[in-house]
Amino acid sequence: MTLERRAVFLDEMGIGPLWQRRDVPPPSHEAIEPAEEPVVVRAEQTLAPVALVEPTQNAVATMDWAQLKASVAGCVKCGLCNGRTKTVFGVGDEKAKWLFIGEGPGRNEDQTGESFVGPAGKLLDNMLRAIGLRRGENAYIANIVKCRPTDETGRDRPPAPEEVAACMPYLERQIALIQPTVLVALGKTAALSLLGLDPETPVSKLRGTVYSYAGLPLIVTYHPAYLLRNMADKRKAWADLCLATTTYANA
Ligand code: URA
Ligand code: SF4
Repeated sequence: MTLERRAVFLDEMGIGPLWQRRDVPPPSHEAIEPAEEPVVVRAEQTLAPVALVEPTQNAVATMDWAQLKASVAGCVKCGLCNGRTKTVFGVGDEKAKWLFIGEGPGRNEDQTGESFVGPAGKLLDNMLRAIGLRRGENAYIANIVKCRPTDETGRDRPPAPEEVAACMPYLERQIALIQPTVLVALGKTAALSLLGLDPETPVSKLRGTVYSYAGLPLIVTYHPAYLLRNMADKRKAWADLCLATTTYANA
């Protein structure tokens, strides 16, 4: 990544322009990139244990796009179907090399049926643009669950493990159909659902490592909604996208 690219990224992320003192040399962009070769580790397993796999889930594994979309649209496999307005299947280039995976729909997505359409979606679009992608061009944006999880007061909440397990076959099939080169998990829920790690693991511990999911490299970064609340961590998200870009280039 060039210094110019970084400046564009930080600008688009809402933290630029980069003010530089004239009497000191510009900081090296290496400083925000991982200092060492990333460690490659294998994911233990996905969350769906074999015992939970029903015959219908086996059918999902052989569906084409049209069948899969219709299946999700009519799905009642978990309790989240009760509160939804629309299912949110995922959006983007079905032949994308980059697959970004969020947690699940929020209010805006539940209303429109499209992933990441609120303020967090706008930030995600800027993150994509900074690395030369668009949601319809070489990028696909999916979620762990396809229906909006809310608590008893109507607020967004992370999906429960049984909801993740019920919905995961759809994402697995999306990955198989898209055949991306690199996966980017947006936030803790996406990362931990895919990697089956201890639910207490913070994103800060997951960053900087190239994991492997279904034989594909997986990089973890902060969720855009988190970044909207924590400006300072946008620089770390940039470092994560640098790692993803390097991984992509070497894949
Ligand atoms: N947050 C997510 O994780 N996914 C969306 O689609 C929107 C917000
Ligand atoms: Fe089906 Fe997934 Fe919606 Fe649950 S969240 S009802 S498994 S589509």
